[in-house]
Amino acid sequence: MTDREHLYICEECGQRIYPGDKFQPAGECAFCPEHAATLADILDFWERDIADETDMACWSEWFGNIEDARAHVENLCARIANAGAEFKPLEEA
Ligand SMILES: [Zn+2]
Repeated sequence: MTDREHLYICEECGQRIYPGDKFQPAGECAFCPEHAATLADILDFWERDIADETDMACWSEWFGNIEDARAHVENLCARIANAGAEFKPLEEA
């Protein structure tokens, strides 16, 4: 019996994500649709991160500067206005 090659593993539950499956990429990690973050979760994460003035903030690893990070937050707000806060942005593997 041969297993199809999976591309990612859900960080939360270990579910394997195969080519063509919907999933949510998050940097080095991936999440299955069930455990994917909603737009509201993502917005909340970045708003806190940008407001964090300690070394714990990680926006600088993702964005070139704080303006880009803030632009991303504005973009998320616009997406929430369109798709709703509970929308989960997913991609096809
Ligand atoms: Zn999962």
